[in-house]
Amino acid sequence: MQITFLGTGTSAGVPVIACDCATCRSEDPRDKRWRPSLALAFDDGTSVLVDASPDLRAQALRFRITRVDAILLTHAHADHVLGLDDVRIYNFRQGGAIPCHGAARALARVRRMFDYVFDPATPKGGGLPQLALRELVGPFSLGGATVIPVPLLHGTLPVLGFRIGSFAYLTDCNAIPDASWPLLEGLDTLVLDALRHKAHRTHFTVDEAVAVARRIGAGRTLFTHMTHDLPHAATCAALPAGISLAYDGLQLELAPAATAGLLAAGCAAAGLY
Ligand SMILES: [Zn+2]
Ligand SMILES: [Zn+2]
Ligand SMILES: [Zn+2]
Repeated sequence: MQITFLGTGTSAGVPVIACDCATCRSEDPRDKRWRPSLALAFDDGTSVLVDASPDLRAQALRFRITRVDAILLTHAHADHVLGLDDVRIYNFRQGGAIPCHGAARALARVRRMFDYVFDPATPKGGGLPQLALRELVGPFSLGGATVIPVPLLHGTLPVLGFRIGSFAYLTDCNAIPDASWPLLEGLDTLVLDALRHKAHRTHFTVDEAVAVARRIGAGRTLFTHMTHDLPHAATCAALPAGISLAYDGLQLELAPAATAGLLAAGCAAAGLY
């Protein structure tokens, strides 16, 4: 499986509108962060988005995303779903609706935020995205692999991370429930929320994320969802070995790995969805 980081910024993106701090003025391309999203290219050719950021159009053009077979939603905050309208281009090209997998709470919010999409009375002339909303209730098959939803807490809001083989993507969280830790054993690559240094009510700080990364013990850990408080080069230089900041356009090649032993744990965690 190949993973492309489409966006590694927090909800405001970096640079921040009207900000002239050093990070926002930086010429290091790794300091330009679109809103958070991943593209997953499975070995069988299946192309999947994790979230649909407000920057989806620019991301799809820059990273040449030519098809989308499914979308995984972590949660329905604006920085993760406001690009959903743009997937209509893929509907036109491919024909048919795109399955959009998420927890019931996230799908209900998507229905409210995009009510014109789901209201049968909406005139069809302008073109609408076709989204087949699929409620996640446990591990499921996608692209020849098993996707294991990992329940997380984002402040008081339950959200989902995703594990595929020995890779896990845990954005927008500041706590990992007890039932989810067994789903994070034996990872080669972990992507984890690390907003900034200063404490926040709904995101891990860098120090908190380092502690979580050490407990999970993945072969390598990449941080995401960063604010402009974290310049890429200086922040990476201060992180422990094996941990670094992701950046927009970073690509990873991952070997498939068996997840069969995790399925029972995944089902046990299903009560948290
Ligand atoms: Zn700034
Ligand atoms: Zn969020
Ligand atoms: Zn977010």
